Amino acid sequence: MKIKKGDKVKIIGGKDRGKTGKVLQVFPDRERISVEGLNLLIKHMRPRRQGEKGQRIEFPAPLNISNMMLICPKCNKAARVGFQTQVSEKGKKKKYRVCKKCQQVIA
Ligand SMILES: [Zn+2]
Repeated sequence: MKIKKGDKVKIIGGKDRGKTGKVLQVFPDRERISVEGLNLLIKHMRPRRQGEKGQRIEFPAPLNISNMMLICPKCNKAARVGFQTQVSEKGKKKKYRVCKKCQQVIA
């Protein structure tokens, strides 16, 4: 996945286009990501007991990953992400994300 939990993303499609937010949860199998404060839906909870009030709960519905771009923490721009494989001293291969704008490795 190009985008991980805790990343900042910019929405490039749909009704929240142009907005930015922090990634709360990633659903790799569905290629969807929920972003803090974006694409909010309201769930109505019915009162369970008599005398209790119904509740409205706002929650961010997951957005498709193709509708967002990662905001690079190094150059602060919405950037495409590439991957780079580096071999450690122990000979282990590790994949890094690389910002295509500033070419810096993103942790
Ligand atoms: Zn960058």
